Amino acid sequence: MSFGCRTSPELSRVSLSPSISHHETCFADALETPGCETAWNFNWPGTVPAVRKLLAIISLLFLFAVSACGGKEPRAQAEPEQRSTPKVERMAAPPNAYAAQIPPFRRAPLPERVVLPDDGVHAPLIKRVPTNHKVAFITIDDGNKRLPEAHELFRAPNTPASAFLVSKIAAEDPAYFERLKDDGMPIEAHSVNHIKLRGLSYEAQKAEICGSVDALEQMMGKRPTLFRPPYGEYDKTTLRAARDCGIKAVLYWTQSVTDGNVYYQTPEKKVLAGDIILLHFRDAIVGDILATLQAIYDSGLTPALLEDYLG
Ligand SMILES: [Zn+2]
Repeated sequence: MSFGCRTSPELSRVSLSPSISHHETCFADALETPGCETAWNFNWPGTVPAVRKLLAIISLLFLFAVSACGGKEPRAQAEPEQRSTPKVERMAAPPNAYAAQIPPFRRAPLPERVVLPDDGVHAPLIKRVPTNHKVAFITIDDGNKRLPEAHELFRAPNTPASAFLVSKIAAEDPAYFERLKDDGMPIEAHSVNHIKLRGLSYEAQKAEICGSVDALEQMMGKRPTLFRPPYGEYDKTTLRAARDCGIKAVLYWTQSVTDGNVYYQTPEKKVLAGDIILLHFRDAIVGDILATLQAIYDSGLTPALLEDYLG
C-alpha cells in the first residue's frame, strides 16, 4: 500500500480529519516539523478491536509514508543549490576593464555623408574629412601585433576605429581581424606587401592596391572601399590605380600616435573637427588608443567612424 509522497497536506487533512483527533496545524506542519507526527492520537469509535487494529496499522503505514516524504525534504532543499550553478553562469560579464579609462565623451552627432570630389580618373586624397561635426577619426594600420586587450578596448563604448590592413599580414591571423570586424571595426586596405608605391608603374601599384582589396574581401566577406598608401607615399598613379580598384578615397592623416604620445602634423597642435589620427597594431596599442581618446576629448571632440562619413 502506498500513500504517495506527493499527497498534499491539504488533501490528507480532508480525507482523515473525521476519524483522527489531532491539531490540524500539526498535520499541516507534519511534512516540515520533525516529531510532529508523534502527537497523533488514534481514536476509532464504534469499531471492533480487530478493525481498530487494522485501521491503526493503516494509519501507521500512512504516517510512515508521510515520514518518508518528509525524508525527501533535504533533496527538495538541495534543488535550489543545483539551480544556483547556472544562475552564476548567467551572471552578466564584468564591465569592460577599460571603460573607466575612456573619457566621458559627448554623444556623437548623427553622421553626415560627405560628398567626395570625383574627377572621373583619380580617387580623392583625404587628409581631413570635410565636416563641421565635432568628431575625429581613429585609424589603425598594418596588423602586426594582435593583442586580445586591444580587442577588448575596441569593444568598449566610444572607441570607433577603422583598420587599414596589409593583406599579407592579415592573412597570418584573419580570425583576429574578423572578430574586430564583427564588433564593428571596418576593415580597409593598406597594400599587399607594404612597399612604397610612389614612383611605381600603374600595373605595380594596381597589383598592390587591388591585390589587398581582393584578399581582404575574401578573408572578411566585405570589400574595402578606403585605401591608405604605405608610409604615406603616393602619387597621381596611386590615386588612379586606387579608383580603378573601386576605392572611394585614399586616406592620409593629421596626427600620429606612438608609445602614448600624440604627434601633431598640423600647425594647430590640437585635434580639429574631421581630423584623421594614425595608430598601428603594435605592442603599445592600448596606451596609444587611450592617448588618442584623451587628445580627442581635450579638443572638445568625439570619436566617430570614418565610414559613416566617407562610405
Ligand atoms: Zn603601414
